[in-house]
Amino acid sequence: MKSIQYKDARRVEVGEKSLPETGPGEVLIKVAYAGVCGSDMFIYQGTHPRAKAPLVMGHEFSGTIEKGHGALARGTPVTVYPLLSCGHCDPCRNGYAHVCNTLKLIGIDCDGGMAEYVKVPEDKVVPIPSDLPLKLAAFIEPVAVAVHATRRSGYKPGDSAVVYGAGPIGLCVASCLKYFGASQVLVVETNAYRLDIARQLGFIPIDAGREDIKARVLEYTDGHNIDLAFDCAAHPGVHTTILDILRVQGTGVVVGSYKKPAEVDLLKIEFKELTLIGIRVYERRDFGIATRILQSGLIDFDRLLTVAAPEEAPERFRNLLEGANVIKMLFKLDS
Ligand SMILES: [Zn+2]
Ligand SMILES: [Zn+2]
Repeated sequence: MKSIQYKDARRVEVGEKSLPETGPGEVLIKVAYAGVCGSDMFIYQGTHPRAKAPLVMGHEFSGTIEKGHGALARGTPVTVYPLLSCGHCDPCRNGYAHVCNTLKLIGIDCDGGMAEYVKVPEDKVVPIPSDLPLKLAAFIEPVAVAVHATRRSGYKPGDSAVVYGAGPIGLCVASCLKYFGASQVLVVETNAYRLDIARQLGFIPIDAGREDIKARVLEYTDGHNIDLAFDCAAHPGVHTTILDILRVQGTGVVVGSYKKPAEVDLLKIEFKELTLIGIRVYERRDFGIATRILQSGLIDFDRLLTVAAPEEAPERFRNLLEGANVIKMLFKLDS
């Protein structure tokens, strides 16, 4: 079968690989679309702490059942909940399997969806509605991250919100807020292409490179400052402004992954009685909610998706690293 494989730092190759052999409790999935995540870019650069070459990346994918599922027939459209939790540690035993002490992912710790076929444990298979296009279904996983972030934020109807970063996750968070009823969502970004996409989706773009973020926030909140701020940029400068634009007892949500410790002025958190919340991936129910958001048609998610053939992978990964004008890169594996 055809596969996209991470071979070494900055080296991705397209080549033949033998079909995965499924054992008891394993399902073979024929992959339709597989997305490139930020974590895949860390793998590609050789800086991911766990991923080891050779590896078929891809934890965001859709496809159809090929064989091995006890209840779902061949051809059933599915996506995969890619978290591999141990089931025994304290977080796992207390309902927090998504923050398992030894959390692993399909596509990072074992072969994933950037191939014509992938094998996964049966309990990771998530059937999807037959009217949801498989292209959109490959985007359920990133939307689930945003659902988890929005629900954990304590968002209440009427709350004002700022999202930092108009990458896939930032735009998904803004979209979830819109789905949950937020009338206006401000999106802070420096990249002109991403700002434009945010505008096209109906959000209020703020160009962090040219505009005074604090002044724009005050303008949109009638001088009240913001209720919620989502950090999907994970840029060292973000928290200095987030703490300034949050209202008293406002909430900051850390969604992006900081690869180095960031400086945070704790005095501002104390003086304004702020709350900072962390987000790690998602829980099972977030997949269902994400599916309904994608199905709703309220947000034109298609605008965020760029599709390429697997053969283009080496060039596409190179371009993504150089900051290509792409929000979410999907490889179409069923030709
Ligand atoms: Zn991801
Ligand atoms: Zn565990």
